[in-house]
Amino acid sequence: MNQYQTIPPDTIFRLNDEFKADPRPNKVNAGIGIYLDESGKPFVIPIISKIAASLDFKNFNYLPISGDTTFLDESAKLIFGNNLYKKFNNKLAKQGVVGGTNGIYLWANLIQSIDKNPTIIISNPTWENHNKIFENFGFNIIEFPQLDKNNNFNFKALEKNILNNPNSYILFQGGPTHNPTSVNPSDTEWKLLSKLLKDNNNSALFDFAYAGLGDNFESDCFGVRHILENKIPVSVNFSYSKNMTLYQHRTGILVILTDNNKEKLILESNLKFLFRINNSTPPAFGELIVKNILQNETYKKEWLHTLSEMSASLKKRRQLFNKYTNNRFKFILNQKGFFSLINLNPSQIETLKTKHAIYLLPNSRINFAGMALEQIPYVAKAINSI
Ligand code: PMP
Repeated sequence: MNQYQTIPPDTIFRLNDEFKADPRPNKVNAGIGIYLDESGKPFVIPIISKIAASLDFKNFNYLPISGDTTFLDESAKLIFGNNLYKKFNNKLAKQGVVGGTNGIYLWANLIQSIDKNPTIIISNPTWENHNKIFENFGFNIIEFPQLDKNNNFNFKALEKNILNNPNSYILFQGGPTHNPTSVNPSDTEWKLLSKLLKDNNNSALFDFAYAGLGDNFESDCFGVRHILENKIPVSVNFSYSKNMTLYQHRTGILVILTDNNKEKLILESNLKFLFRINNSTPPAFGELIVKNILQNETYKKEWLHTLSEMSASLKKRRQLFNKYTNNRFKFILNQKGFFSLINLNPSQIETLKTKHAIYLLPNSRINFAGMALEQIPYVAKAINSI
């Protein structure tokens, strides 16, 4: 065993542990991506609590390897909308996964099992686990800058990388809520990208960790739906951690478009094989909650309503932060979702932690969803003072 070397701890979870151990009463956790209510308390979407409390388990037997069939179908309908679902369902391979992280891992595992030299284009910056997972499976990673000098989506940089790397995979984050920048292609750019992907024989992987928390499902899923409609090879990894507040229940789905029903069944058998040797079967609690919500129009409406309230609250928190930082980071007002990068340097981030008990990620990602309304002026003033 002496060949092993210590691997540095995960940045986000290490910071979270430091936060928990910090005895200062005024501490603020704007690091890890969780949504707290406006008073800073942990938040579970009310209809999710209600369904969770009403689940009457008669047994805890295993789910099928792929997961609950209704959960899989209802999830695909949610992602693609009813019409595209009807049109494409017989070609959609589906597998329930253990949260979004496991979905990316499974997808990378699947690709690596048939493609020994895969190349994937990924934005820089991105969620730090992306690169770790793809490196682990031996992908060549090509990075493009997500932002241009005006803090807009860097379409030109991505275009150049697509043209230089035909036949490669491209990782997109779905919706406007890119982690950590909250900047993503516009609808017009999604359309242009769809043509570029088609012309250059690329395949897209959409990673959705915040669907419905940007604008709404229709608008957040525009890009992926457009690409599916144009029959471009596409996979979708969809997490319910944030948008159903199911974080610890590890619930998600991986959907892959195939050419025909026969290929769908073949691909599903491969997904099942890989999932079986890694995880065996998915956790049931989250899948059953999601299935109950999505199957019932009243529950679904209530859930969507809460999502819109959460988005509105994020907007309010952004506005308050902007007010107390005197428009210094005005660009955050055009961004949606949990995060923004506020371009502080590592030593400023360190000062915020040591002097003010304010925790941000070292790349200067701030999580608006993690700050209570009353903490925001304090955080803003501290940032102004450094
Ligand atoms: N992708 C992105 C972009 C994320 O931000 C996250 C969560 N931080 C995930 C995937 C993974 O989510 P989960 O907790 O469901 O594994």
